[in-house]
Amino acid sequence: MREVNIKLIPALFLIFALIALLFFSSKKESMVLALNGKKDGEAAVLELIDENRDKELIHNKKYEAFIYLAFQKEEVFTSYLIDKKTGEKKDLMDYVKTEKREEFTKKIKDLLYLKYPKFIADALNIENVNRFYQILDNEFIIHFDKQKINPSIEENLFLRVDYNEVKDCFTFKISQTEEKNEYVVENGYDRDKNKKAVALTFDDGPNGEKTNKIVDILEQNKAHATFFMVGNRMEYGKETILNVLNKGNEIGSHSYNHKNMKRMKIADIVSGEEKTKEIFYTITGKELIYTRPPYGNVNQKIKENLDTIFINWNLDTEDWLHRNKDHIVNYVMENVSDGDIILMHDLYDSTVEAVEELLPKLYAEGYQVVSISELANLKGKNLEMHSVYRSIESN
Ligand SMILES: [Zn+2]
Repeated sequence: MREVNIKLIPALFLIFALIALLFFSSKKESMVLALNGKKDGEAAVLELIDENRDKELIHNKKYEAFIYLAFQKEEVFTSYLIDKKTGEKKDLMDYVKTEKREEFTKKIKDLLYLKYPKFIADALNIENVNRFYQILDNEFIIHFDKQKINPSIEENLFLRVDYNEVKDCFTFKISQTEEKNEYVVENGYDRDKNKKAVALTFDDGPNGEKTNKIVDILEQNKAHATFFMVGNRMEYGKETILNVLNKGNEIGSHSYNHKNMKRMKIADIVSGEEKTKEIFYTITGKELIYTRPPYGNVNQKIKENLDTIFINWNLDTEDWLHRNKDHIVNYVMENVSDGDIILMHDLYDSTVEAVEELLPKLYAEGYQVVSISELANLKGKNLEMHSVYRSIESN
């Protein structure tokens, strides 16, 4: 036995060495494989799914360059773009071609200004997304962080972008589904019947610079207003009138000479109104359909004899009396409610300043600031001739 054992030692050693070599080399290979596995996109995805197992997996889709993962827990969304080859976490911007980055960023910014008022769009950048993208077949949706918005807002901020809007910007190809829903660019002027709305009105213009400044502020805030203008001032304010209308606002009559109608002969009121309508038509080619009687003074006789819709107000800022920005802003914010018609005058700097501060605040409170016609439309009201309206509410 012993003899046999001694003779076998070299052979056994050789066998052992061979086994050891095989064992270690295979071990080395499997270690390399494990390392590759960890870096690979699929493995990273499995890891992330495990890390987020308390959330619901709502997207897990492979694209040419990355795997898109999204999770939801209650109202909180998280998304990841995982590089297919390396397993690294990426941002959508990483897949924008270097030479197209500027174009891409500008396009996103343009779309934001189209959808949101300036005070919101100014604060949003593709860089401050709330770590959530929705990558869909025909479009992607960017969800933005709203922490920096002032005044703070309730609504969630997001932007839908059709791939056609940013053609050739990405380093990957998107497979568009054959049936493509028609894409509509989100527009901040699209009104919502389910949201609150108020009509802003300005009396006594046109007043050149101040009127135009208010028009600019309205535009920056996706708002519209109705300007009640005095007939005998219209010819001197042609440019202003056209600017007001071009930006989607509307104009009503504020009589020909701003006299108290209650103290006038009916014939004079009627001829004054006709003169105002004529001047306005000559400038714009449009009819005046609303009238705000000076001081809101109207009686049965005036109502019966003028073929117009009378628009008064239920929220008087008394801007002409106080000439104070804070008074106007506070008064409106403390008293405003759905369907109100707010009275101001495009005559004072304090009013211009107030409008600038007020519009973001109203937006943040969920109000759409609109013209009289838009308010009537939102509330499903057909405004009638010879009637006086102080607010416009749904039935
Ligand atoms: Zn007036």
